Amino acid sequence: MKTIGLLGGMSWESSAEYYRVINEEVRSRLGWTHSAELVLYSFDFARIEAMQEADDWDLAGKTLAEAAVGLERAGAECLVICTNTMHRLSAAIEQAVEIPIIHIADTTARAIHETGVRRPLLLGTRYTMEADFYAGRLRDQHSIEVTLPDPEDRGVIHDIIYAELVRGVVSDASRQAYLDIIGRADGCDGVIAGCTEIELLISADDLDVPYFPTARIHALAAVDFALS
Ligand code: GLU
Repeated sequence: MKTIGLLGGMSWESSAEYYRVINEEVRSRLGWTHSAELVLYSFDFARIEAMQEADDWDLAGKTLAEAAVGLERAGAECLVICTNTMHRLSAAIEQAVEIPIIHIADTTARAIHETGVRRPLLLGTRYTMEADFYAGRLRDQHSIEVTLPDPEDRGVIHDIIYAELVRGVVSDASRQAYLDIIGRADGCDGVIAGCTEIELLISADDLDVPYFPTARIHALAAVDFALS
């Protein structure tokens, strides 16, 4: 089995899900008392959030790249960045290490193609919804054209992530707010939970279109790699 490197703590609420899903999947595939070989670097998220707010993506890139190098030295054979947003920095991180990055947009794209969904709605932080590193990669490398909520709804989605989900707050009111936004979105035939905490709030059972919980999909891809 290969060793997985998790770049986590963004937030730890979702990194804990990666840890659980990866270990459960390894046990279910290998049986007995098997669990994953992995190393985790978990950031103080307040530090990362401050860099995002200050728009200091260079510093964030250097910070994540340093931690990635540490994971590689600790024996990681692949890198899993446990956040959609910070894949904005995947090129800077990739340059710093020899090991492959399992890119969350690529694993999500594969899951979308398996269902035949053509125009999924992308939910995530403002950074993920509004910069092109995510939707652009889906479009240019995977021929998937996402739809976005309108600007006001994007603000609601973003604020619930930072004011609640990364702080461990999961509320019925916010679930309903997300479902209302999904209901208002025109012409989408699927929903991407493009922030790794959204799947703590919304599950496939809440929706009547295919759902793509990116953290779970990404974690399962890491297991595929580890057992390949
Ligand atoms: N976990 C989140 C994501 O998947 C948001 C936190 C962050 O900014 O990294 O985008």
